Amino acid sequence: MRIANRKRFTFSCIFFTLILLLFGKAAINLKESKIMGSQPVVMAVGKNGTNKLETTKVDKHLKKDTIVLDAGHGGIDNGTSYKNLYEKNLTLKMVKYAESYLKSKGYTVVLTRNKDELIPLKEIGRRVNASSGTVFVSIHVNSISDPNFKGITTLYYDVQGYEKQERIKLANILEKEAVKSDNWTSKGIKKQNVAILRYSKIPCALVECGFITNNEDRDKLCKDEVLKRLSQNISDGIIKYLKQD
Ligand SMILES: [Zn+2]
Repeated sequence: MRIANRKRFTFSCIFFTLILLLFGKAAINLKESKIMGSQPVVMAVGKNGTNKLETTKVDKHLKKDTIVLDAGHGGIDNGTSYKNLYEKNLTLKMVKYAESYLKSKGYTVVLTRNKDELIPLKEIGRRVNASSGTVFVSIHVNSISDPNFKGITTLYYDVQGYEKQERIKLANILEKEAVKSDNWTSKGIKKQNVAILRYSKIPCALVECGFITNNEDRDKLCKDEVLKRLSQNISDGIIKYLKQD
């Protein structure tokens, strides 16, 4: 072999060795990704600028909370109404919107009812306390003889100071988030002796989602997209409350 041919031969050997090494590495990676199954894998650039493999992180905090939602009234109890618009139907729609939104964020959701049925208030209280819920929110719609009254108000209650600060904090956050879209008026939070809030052993609040007796509020309540946004806003309030220390 001549010197020029020998050099070419040596370069060829090095080149093929490198190719074989690269194929070997690719085969190992493929095997590893099969072992990891369907777990999503993303490439991330490390702080020092190097590439590293990281599995997608799931926020563990989101996983551990169970949220209990209550659709006010049901069955023979229509709640308040205006013509064929019934509070029991509006509240059920809203908790279902909130349920799917919160589930999409990784939370476990328990509904006190998911169909048109009447659950006695004591039974609602029992279900709330029997759940492993961290927070309980009841959804209602308001009414009053004066048609000028409008807006959302959030009720809280504490028995002899039990969880008082927590309950006030939750009510304030929910009220603030609830009015974020569709130009809702905030009527603030209010302490009111409501049976289900009294029975609940976990932080809880009741959101009165506008007045069915007011034209402006009623127009909003008739629109599914408004109910959906309101439910999502209330859900965001629940999430904000849970994320607080
Ligand atoms: Zn009600």
